[in-house]
Amino acid sequence: MRIDVLTIFPEYLEPLRAALLGKAIDKELISVDVHDLRDYTHDVHKAVDDSPYGGGPGMVMKPQVWGEALDAVCQPDADGTLPRLVVPTPAGRPFTQELAREYATLPWLAFACGRYEGIDQRVVDDSAGRMRVDEVSIGDYVLVGGEVAVLVMVEAVARLLPGVLGNPLSAEQDSFSDGLLEGPSYTRPEVWRGLGVPSVLRSGNHKLIDRWRRDQALERTFHRRPELLDRLTDDQLDKHDRAL
Ligand code: SAM
Repeated sequence: MRIDVLTIFPEYLEPLRAALLGKAIDKELISVDVHDLRDYTHDVHKAVDDSPYGGGPGMVMKPQVWGEALDAVCQPDADGTLPRLVVPTPAGRPFTQELAREYATLPWLAFACGRYEGIDQRVVDDSAGRMRVDEVSIGDYVLVGGEVAVLVMVEAVARLLPGVLGNPLSAEQDSFSDGLLEGPSYTRPEVWRGLGVPSVLRSGNHKLIDRWRRDQALERTFHRRPELLDRLTDDQLDKHDRAL
């Protein structure tokens, strides 16, 4: 998968080269190119922002700079493919595991990191004329810039790519993969600070263990994120689940 990130703070994206993602880059499972938006300015101050039309606090990122940068980076590749352009914004559609799974099937993602009050809306409108553009929020809170949101999204997507995780089963059993939160996990020792590991996990009976894990996931989801249970379809529930 090819990943391009446009930002005024390229150094913010350095963590993409660490740990698991760094290994994925080394193994050429993903390529990451970070572009400095200021390279596309033409004035001595390298200005990327201007005051908002209609007044109000803060500054808005200029469309000319973004337009030039996106024209340069989002050129069709040899097959004529363009990236999915992802624009992080608190006003976007929520980023979910489902969207991460969708992005993991794409060959190319480009991210446009906003700062200040965000990017002039015409940049999205113009880009949408030639490629698919998603305005995406990573949660109901406001960050100072899109870079951290990109780190979140790239990490969530990259770990779903074949070969990135040591054991692909980990991603299949994670929270949200079956619509539920994952239940608790334990490792050695058997008793720690007076707290024991649930005996079923030491029983060696895998049928019982699977059922216990499923019940724990249902219970945890019920207490912490009940709205997720309402979204489950009939085929995601077995007979025992419904009895709970
Ligand atoms: N004025 C904008 C609003 O109220 O919707 C907030 C702009 S925010 C201060 C600056 C930038 O941070 C945004 O352009 C976006 O790139 C990023 N950002 C902030 N919160 C975000 C979130 N929850 N999800 C994704 N990106 C976010």
